[in-house]
Amino acid sequence: LSACGANSAGSGNSGDSKSSASAPAGGGASGKVGVILPETATSARWEAFDKPMLQAALSAQGFSADIQNAQGDNQKFSTLADGFISSGVKVLIIAPSDPAVGAAIEAKAKNAGIPVIDYDRPSLGGSAGYYVSFDNEKVGEIQAQGLADALKSKPGANVVQIEGAPTDNNATLFANGHDKVLQPLYDSKALNRVQKQAIDNWDAQVGGTTFEQIFTRVNGKVDGVVAANDELAGAVITVLKKNGLNGKVPVTGQDATPAGLQAILRGDQTLTIFKPIKEEAENTAKLAAALAKGDTAAADAIATGKLHDPKNNRDLKSVLLQPQLITIKDIKTVVQQGYVKASDICTGD
Ligand code: BGC
Repeated sequence: LSACGANSAGSGNSGDSKSSASAPAGGGASGKVGVILPETATSARWEAFDKPMLQAALSAQGFSADIQNAQGDNQKFSTLADGFISSGVKVLIIAPSDPAVGAAIEAKAKNAGIPVIDYDRPSLGGSAGYYVSFDNEKVGEIQAQGLADALKSKPGANVVQIEGAPTDNNATLFANGHDKVLQPLYDSKALNRVQKQAIDNWDAQVGGTTFEQIFTRVNGKVDGVVAANDELAGAVITVLKKNGLNGKVPVTGQDATPAGLQAILRGDQTLTIFKPIKEEAENTAKLAAALAKGDTAAADAIATGKLHDPKNNRDLKSVLLQPQLITIKDIKTVVQQGYVKASDICTGD
């Protein structure tokens, strides 16, 4: 694997040491912050990147952070939130699997006078004051453009879209980005859409069986797959591999997870999306520090973007960071920024 040879020098921190160099603004905050992440299985990002990077960024702002993962269990998510609210955290930071669960928590937090930040996923219909994430429609556009480029020499190529959870607004935006790029190509018959299928709860196992059913229905005539993230891509690649088609059918992904990067190095996956989660964590921590001090002017100066919430027809003040395309030639970027170690992805298989 040629991409592996050159990059051993680049591994930096994974968010747990150097980021404390950014001194807390204005003397910093203190007290406890509660963070609840959504799941473990739907993406390696939450435990591998978000957790350590939020821990580092929040302590750099002077907080003591308690970061939990609800493991896809809505009841557990609510119980964790209730615990944080009754223990009087300064700020609550949540990324729920179900936005309705998030919105209910936000109502309780509001009653208790605790500010809430929507982290990565918005709780549509909720009352959080701020949102930190990425330009998620752009994520979808980059994925779809990468697939379209890979299929340029195959006019009329059959494309399957395996999308994320319909309850996750991010998945909706990824899919909007896909359609923005692909619909004109379907219309002009440059490409042919076989099926677009959302996968409940981002469940990769369901993603794999769903893809297999579609693949069988069209007698294996699939030329390219938009998979919304690396876990769904992995499930699709497993099915392609059973049929001797891995590496021949372009597949997209997202999150620059170690498994996704390995699949790119093997030639089984065409691309992934790198989202600078360290910046997401640092912006969240700065916002939390401003909110803990009741300084909404400072918070507003950080969250200069907006996300429309159609459920209660308002714009949520947001920080929306830029996603980045990663193909085999860009893998070094992810290593150099300290998200993965070369030794973790260059297994030589
Ligand atoms: C995140 C993605 C992640 C997916 C599944 C989305 O809300 O933005 O990065 O792959 O959830 O966990």
